[in-house]
Amino acid sequence: MPRQIAAFCAIWLLSIQCVNGQGVVTNSHSVEAIRAAMNSPIPPQIQQQARQFDAQVLNSRKVGDQTIAILNDARYSRTDEIVQKLLRAIDDSSNWTVRVLDSNPKVENAFTVGGTYIYVYTGLIDNVRSDDELAFILGHEISHSQLKHNLRRSEDFSNLLASIIELSGSMSKTENRRDKMGLIGGSIKALYSREDEREADALGAYIAKQAGYLPVRGIEFFRRMMNLEKSVNAQNDSQIAQARANVQQQVTNCENLKAQWNSQPRIRTPQNAQIMNSACQTAQTNAQQLNSAAKKDALGSVLLRTHPFDGDRMNALVASVQYLQGSRSLQSISSVGQGYNVFVALADIAPASRSADAAMREQASSSGAQGFYVALDAFSSDINANALRTKLSAAGIKSVTESVQTSRGEFTRVLAGPFTSQDEAERVREKLFGMKLKPGAISSR
Ligand SMILES: [Zn+2]
Repeated sequence: MPRQIAAFCAIWLLSIQCVNGQGVVTNSHSVEAIRAAMNSPIPPQIQQQARQFDAQVLNSRKVGDQTIAILNDARYSRTDEIVQKLLRAIDDSSNWTVRVLDSNPKVENAFTVGGTYIYVYTGLIDNVRSDDELAFILGHEISHSQLKHNLRRSEDFSNLLASIIELSGSMSKTENRRDKMGLIGGSIKALYSREDEREADALGAYIAKQAGYLPVRGIEFFRRMMNLEKSVNAQNDSQIAQARANVQQQVTNCENLKAQWNSQPRIRTPQNAQIMNSACQTAQTNAQQLNSAAKKDALGSVLLRTHPFDGDRMNALVASVQYLQGSRSLQSISSVGQGYNVFVALADIAPASRSADAAMREQASSSGAQGFYVALDAFSSDINANALRTKLSAAGIKSVTESVQTSRGEFTRVLAGPFTSQDEAERVREKLFGMKLKPGAISSR
């Protein structure tokens, strides 16, 4: 019986993402799916599982079977401050718990659990070169959570935890077991789909920028890691395979010599002892070196292994950042993929931003022309106003903006129009309702 209930919940959750008002199944990465995901709360059972996960980490001081320390030092203060700034920027008032984890070996990773817990390893904090980089990565992780990617994918929270635990476990085992070296990369799998990553990149860049960080600097971490991985992979594949075969041969030699030494008392001469010890020493030294090289490679890129990065993704990210900085239009990034859908979805649901983006402010378009106008939403962020205008434009509806003073500061209102008659304005207003845009009153000027 509990199984059936779980199955029902899964279908129900899925239906939020995949069925629109007309009951038509849509692409789960559509603007509607993104909007629905951002508006949907975290289910109580997921929150409960997250609390249990956190309690387990606190009690056992372990993630999976890797021992960790939970820090409360300057690295914690720095991380917590950035997380709180990011959350304020999107008006997320839920109380997030920030944990800074120290591990040996170092792990370069961060992950969120259950919507309000974020875990950041010192291996990551120590390797970023600016707050912009750290804010970008944390914004990206928070975005996976805001976009409910785990729920949209499988609704199976235990899968995610299993992945994280497997990840940590495989790394701590590698520390002790030389025979596992090289397996580590294969055991770490992507946690999110390609589209999920594109969405989290766009939303993460948006959140970082709203919080006052520079996303253009933030992406440098990913660029560095991607380039590092490329060169390491290119060099290593054949070299490591060869080195591994050599070391295996040396280990076998050492073991054979030891077996002979043990079984044949008459060969136990000082000279043979020296030969055996030297062979075993060489095997051990080379195995250690190879192990630490493989480990360094694997650990350096945990974040990228769980969030695969490639040139296409970097290009999409650069385009999103350029849009956020005002150096290119929203329309011009429509071919880049998921980032565009996120920005269009944000037009309806993004909470008020703290700072108007002067670079994005469209010149002049407001209010001069005579005619009839249909009022739409007012935004504190020009990014959101422009995203709405782009959407109107895509539906063949012209629009203007005007500045309005509110108790929360200066907002930009979008109006559809101008139209030549009241009738035309009425028809467009109906169409806007059809687009679920909540049009206001018609005015003329
Ligand atoms: Zn990601």
